[in-house]
Amino acid sequence: MPGFSASAPPKADVDTAGVTPDGPAVADGAANDRPTPQATILVLGGTADANALVRALRQRWPERRIILSLAGRTREPQVPDHAETRIGGFGGAEGLAVFLAAESVGVLLDATHPFAAGIARNAAKAADIAGVRRLKMLRPAWQLVEGDRWTKVSCLAEACRALPAGARPFLALGRQHLSPFTRRSDIRPLARMIEPPEPALPESWTLVLARPSSDRRAEAALMREHDVTHLVTRNAGGAASYAKVEAAREMGLPVVMIARPQTPEGAVCETVEDVVSALG
Ligand code: NAP
Repeated sequence: MPGFSASAPPKADVDTAGVTPDGPAVADGAANDRPTPQATILVLGGTADANALVRALRQRWPERRIILSLAGRTREPQVPDHAETRIGGFGGAEGLAVFLAAESVGVLLDATHPFAAGIARNAAKAADIAGVRRLKMLRPAWQLVEGDRWTKVSCLAEACRALPAGARPFLALGRQHLSPFTRRSDIRPLARMIEPPEPALPESWTLVLARPSSDRRAEAALMREHDVTHLVTRNAGGAASYAKVEAAREMGLPVVMIARPQTPEGAVCETVEDVVSALG
């Protein structure tokens, strides 16, 4: 359910005049303007990077209203203390454009996950509709280094096809991305997740209920313990989930690396610091 929780409550009687779900609404040509000092900042989050961004923005502009938006996938999301949050989808790009106008958002910061392609597209379109400046924060993708044995693929289906019969892949993917692999009865995957999956995984699979580790030795130990033959992962980038890739390299394991979806055209910053200085 969409909703707000905040130290500063949202406006109850938002005025959506000037924007229609069908089309352009607010100003033309304002997309590249610098935000006014008072302009509200909307951060599209759901990532640790977005939380770090909110903290940095608050430190830099304590007087500004900063709204953190979450999709609502997580029951108990971690957000910065006292952050103003709103939860749930906007109803597509048009709905987001309405929100931008209603809340007088001057800057839209898309700090969603690199694989959250739908919201990234919507953010780009909504910013165009509403004439609001948009920046995408996107940490750099992992790059192949000496010792890596990557097969690069573009999607889950291709990753599934890349595995040979008899493989024992470690599917480091998140439970909503496992279904293509359940149709392969000739592989015996290892899957790790925090909460038990629904529906249950096929019997030939091994399930480990645990959080990903940032320690490459722990990741290597897990893969050894389960006789893993391949690692399948998405190229999320960042340090937090890189340990498994390092472990695979050290073990000489092949990795099926799923490339990121395309990023909408427009300004991209790699780090929190870059975003803050771009807005500065
Ligand atoms: P998605 O496919 O790109 O987006 C699907 C829909 O979810 C969007 O159209 C939007 O609904 C809503 N939505 C997504 N992010 C939102 C946000 N921050 N605030 C409000 N609505 C949002 O997204 P996804 O891949 O399911 O990811 C959902 C969220 O989880 C994202 O915020 C992302 O940062 C986070 N996350 C994703 C991954 C991943 O692997 N994809 C990993 C870690 C965290 P409406 O069209 O109704 O506006």
